[in-house]
Amino acid sequence: MRESVLKLRSGRNGILRPAHPWIYKGQLLRPELPIKGGSIVSVWTPDNKFVGRGYYNPTSDITVRLLTFKDEPLDGEFIDQKIKEAIARRASMAQKTNAYRVVFSEADSLPGLIIDLYGDTAVFQILTLGMERFTEAVVGAIRKNTAARYIYEKSDGPFRRQEALKVVKSWHGDKGNRYIQISEGKARFSIDIYEGHKTGFYLDQRSSRLAMHTVSKGKTVLDLFSYIGAFAIHAALSSAVGVTAVDIKEDWLALGRKNAALNNVSDRIEFVKADAFKYLDAAVSSGKKFDVIIVDPPSFLKTRRLLESASRGYKELNCKAMKCLNEDGVLATFSCSHNMPNAVFSAALKEAAARAGRELTILKRCRQGEDHPISRWIPETEYLKGYFFRVS
Ligand code: SAH
Repeated sequence: MRESVLKLRSGRNGILRPAHPWIYKGQLLRPELPIKGGSIVSVWTPDNKFVGRGYYNPTSDITVRLLTFKDEPLDGEFIDQKIKEAIARRASMAQKTNAYRVVFSEADSLPGLIIDLYGDTAVFQILTLGMERFTEAVVGAIRKNTAARYIYEKSDGPFRRQEALKVVKSWHGDKGNRYIQISEGKARFSIDIYEGHKTGFYLDQRSSRLAMHTVSKGKTVLDLFSYIGAFAIHAALSSAVGVTAVDIKEDWLALGRKNAALNNVSDRIEFVKADAFKYLDAAVSSGKKFDVIIVDPPSFLKTRRLLESASRGYKELNCKAMKCLNEDGVLATFSCSHNMPNAVFSAALKEAAARAGRELTILKRCRQGEDHPISRWIPETEYLKGYFFRVS
């Protein structure tokens, strides 16, 4: 079967960002014959120059995602090659940890595909209709190129809904374990790959969690939005004198408690079920203070339109946290939304400090770990940012 061909519009409407894989509906001429969603297409300029090859989904705003700018076939072999290259680029990770991301979607030229390795188990997510056609190739490449014994597909989340895809959660081949033990520095965590967030763990926060060792010794620590207790446990393992972990969801607190036991620090961490905003309000009213506070909320904004209200959210949350810090305390604060540019986040933090009457000194800038690479051409691949501040 001949592959479908799409043409860019002429003039400004058809101008693409250099080396960027996304093509929006408005940038393309309407195809001459209808093209089935998920098909492989090639894209051409109005004067018939080859742009790239990718997959098509007419129901998505991003109508084409390109996988290559070379005139080469997009088949199982291509997928295998790209996965192999992504794994090779992370060879040094394997020496440091048994839990890391091996494929990060667009940043590894595989839009719509995430593969995380957790010890002997690989967990992958397919987020687009176009990538779904390559499921078998993905499974084959994981088998061939990694030492994973078990392969779990956890294809869920809001992106799939946008692509009109159903949730798929299943093992490919032998059934492994729902709960997997991983290690990160001195800490060990049991993660839930069936129901946990992302593929089970926030791998992207590894370097910031490891940095807890530089600030926790002898300190009281408050871990807000603690999920399964990862920051809290690192703090406790680094001789914090008392750690409080706050999350709104009991399931995560329960797994957090299990993780505290796994690390023999149950006596030093209190897990509290609460809304972080309300917890801080109560702490401000009662005058309760901490030496270190971690603020790692879920993304406040899913779209750019909500930037202003999200910025207010960060301001409010961080202002409250600053008020609960002892003199020269440390605030580790993060934003995980690409739509919140660092400049806006940083301005919100400055305003929060002004409102709280505190001074900020940057001790450390944070970002997603190196297994979540940032493509210079694809700004959307950079999403996690944060700071360790001294708050005086
Ligand atoms: N710091 C964690 C990841 C945090 S994910 C880590 O490194 O692993 C965000 C967490 O915030 C989720 O567990 C979610 O249940 C929790 N959450 C969401 N809204 C909340 C709220 N209003 N108050 C407290 N926790 C909340």
